Amino acid sequence: MVSYCPICGKPVYFGEKRRSLGRDYHPLCLKCQTCNRQLTAGQHAEHDEKPYCTNCYMLLFGPKVPRPVQPWQRNQRNQT
Ligand SMILES: [Zn+2]
Ligand SMILES: [Zn+2]
Repeated sequence: MVSYCPICGKPVYFGEKRRSLGRDYHPLCLKCQTCNRQLTAGQHAEHDEKPYCTNCYMLLFGPKVPRPVQPWQRNQRNQT
């Protein structure tokens, strides 16, 4: 049974597939979509059906820790 790589859309054959997080990737396709680092199957993050390394995932989608302007800071202008 052939599955399709979610990155390049081409068939992934049994001998070459890297199964990770319920999807089958080509070995070369299983890499971070931001920094292109090769990922280890099962040890990476995923967003919108695309693999990311945990570093990039946290930067892009992780909890929003102190940023210069937060929405609640903008609202304070309306209070004066
Ligand atoms: Zn692929
Ligand atoms: Zn990355």
